[in-house]
Amino acid sequence: MSVKLIDVKNAVLKNKVHYVTSDYKTRGNRSVHNGMDLIGKNRSADYVIAIDDGKVITSTYSKTAGYYVEIKHQNDYISRYLHMKKNSIKVKKGDNVIKGQVLGFMGNTGDSNGAHLHFAIYDNKGTPQDPLPYLQDKLKFTFSGFSKFVSNVQSALKARVDGIAGPETLSKTITISAKVNHKHPVVKYLQEYLYNLGYKDIGTADGIAGPKFTKAIKQFQKDNNCVVDGIVTIQNKTWKALLKLI
Ligand SMILES: [Zn+2]
Repeated sequence: MSVKLIDVKNAVLKNKVHYVTSDYKTRGNRSVHNGMDLIGKNRSADYVIAIDDGKVITSTYSKTAGYYVEIKHQNDYISRYLHMKKNSIKVKKGDNVIKGQVLGFMGNTGDSNGAHLHFAIYDNKGTPQDPLPYLQDKLKFTFSGFSKFVSNVQSALKARVDGIAGPETLSKTITISAKVNHKHPVVKYLQEYLYNLGYKDIGTADGIAGPKFTKAIKQFQKDNNCVVDGIVTIQNKTWKALLKLI
């Protein structure tokens, strides 16, 4: 059987085009392949992200699905992410997630041959739906979500802008605090990003690390099990937490 390769332009995560290797099929009204299989340029290194805001209803392992996550969204539709990499899942049942939030990495667990993401959508009655329209509609968000934050940070740090918060990005991150850096090019993006994460008291996105900035960072640190000192460093895990690497 030949592999159908569709370039899903709207599924571009920064520079990474995702390809559909097997799409949704129905025979009569019975679904034959109740999802889409996606691969990216980096295979197992690819992030799996939440397609929309929602609540995690499943984050577990099964023999067939491997490590997988299920999210319930507005109007009770469900998105499902299968075969994820072992120990890569960053969300647990009951977590609220936002569009573009990293759930973990693409993997090859369960009934899978080769690293890929089986992505599926179910309506509120549990009936599988063709995921393509959801992908095309919902993935537009990524440019204003997490990957946008990462690329903004990278350009401010003059690190390689590839949308992946890899070692180069991390090695260039520096200490930011109200005491040490009153003004830093990354501060503005941090302010915007934290605001979008719900830290509404962050203040104006003006690039100045003032008292409101410090307070919001402390709250973020508290919520993410980092050292609560209001200083954004790699040592105290805050950078990694912000870049969703821990
Ligand atoms: Zn599949």
